[in-house]
Amino acid sequence: MLHSIPTDKLGPLGEPMAKAVSACVHCGFCLAACPTYRELGQEMDTPRGRIVLMKEVLEGKMSFEAAQPHVDRCLGCLACEPACPSGVPYRDLISPFRALAAPKMKRSPLERLRRFLAAQTVPFPGRFRVAAWMGRIGRMGVMPKAMQPMLDLIPDEIPPVQTWEAHYPAKGEKRARVALLLGCAQQVLDPDINTATIEVLTRNGVEVVIPRSQGCCGGLAWHTGDLEAARSFARQNLGAFPEDVDAILTNAAGCGSAMHEYHLVLRGTPDETRAEAFRHRVMDVSVFLAKLGLREPLRETKLKAAYHDACHLSNAQNVRKQPRDLLKAIPGLQLLEIADAHLCCGSAGSYNMDQSEIASSLGEQKAKNIIATGAEVVVTGNIGCMTQVKLHLKKLGSPIQVKHTMQVIRDAMLQS
Ligand code: SF4
Ligand code: SF4
Repeated sequence: MLHSIPTDKLGPLGEPMAKAVSACVHCGFCLAACPTYRELGQEMDTPRGRIVLMKEVLEGKMSFEAAQPHVDRCLGCLACEPACPSGVPYRDLISPFRALAAPKMKRSPLERLRRFLAAQTVPFPGRFRVAAWMGRIGRMGVMPKAMQPMLDLIPDEIPPVQTWEAHYPAKGEKRARVALLLGCAQQVLDPDINTATIEVLTRNGVEVVIPRSQGCCGGLAWHTGDLEAARSFARQNLGAFPEDVDAILTNAAGCGSAMHEYHLVLRGTPDETRAEAFRHRVMDVSVFLAKLGLREPLRETKLKAAYHDACHLSNAQNVRKQPRDLLKAIPGLQLLEIADAHLCCGSAGSYNMDQSEIASSLGEQKAKNIIATGAEVVVTGNIGCMTQVKLHLKKLGSPIQVKHTMQVIRDAMLQS
């Protein structure tokens, strides 16, 4: 697409944004893949439409406010990227654009409050735990209705605090050494995911290091346009993770995807080169284990499991095969596919708080498609998806359990 975006006036993120715009040939192949187009049916809520809107704003021909509703409604699910024959790197446009637009966006006081609360709690496990408890009290009717979508996501039971050692030696012959990101919301909502991940890794001969000074991946900040906070979290992790490991592992798709974008977050800063090297060392735990190969024997099961592709694993990291291969390694496990697997469940970071109607519709559709598989358990690799899917399965009265890939593998390992 031809454009006259003044990249020299837009700072270090101007060039990647302009490149993404110029790669788009306006063909429209991405439309069918876009969940908001499926929901709303209008051009301005498609990837192509949003690219045009953002181009117009960047060229100074349109106001930020005019584009805002459509940009806000983008899930950031990146389903448009694999659907695009021209290889438009949509991620290089949407998050940088949000960072540029953030100070100019007009938001209601309640929306500002909701965004502020999310930014000040979710990335910090201690604060998030307190907020989750307060949210449970808020459910009793003392919070404004506009906060309801946030409260809905709080589980009925908040697990007890769990902590992890700084180091877990490999069991048996050592095959690798890795560092693990613990994830912020994940530590509070389902700490067993980290425990399961560590057990699967160590029993398969992997030494696990948990850097004490690690922080939030910065994904929430990056995807909501808070560039300074995203940079600060990225720098913290650049300094926290050691060099002497074979890989830096994540077990939450959203975190892994954000860490893969550190080069963009820190573009034009003195940390850009380090960020570029760092992101190539980040890997989802399923990718690492599929490559290494499971050594620990797995017991036979008759479990019927549906696998849900988290957008930030499948679209953002191109990881679809590896978790399926790991699950197929469990003897007897029946792996089921979910209809419209490419469609986002509506979780998308803080989307289910900010755009609750679309998020709820997508969540309900995903839950119905999961139920239609006849599965007993739905397996995925992202805490955000797990929370959203659990909520909507429960609303539909379904008993289907929701588990992380590492929990299913751990449960299939013979007792040691
Ligand atoms: S498929 Fe790619 S090139 Fe075609 S309109 Fe969508 S983003 Fe543009
Ligand atoms: S990121 Fe998702 S919601 Fe946004 S334009 Fe692409 S496909 Fe549509």
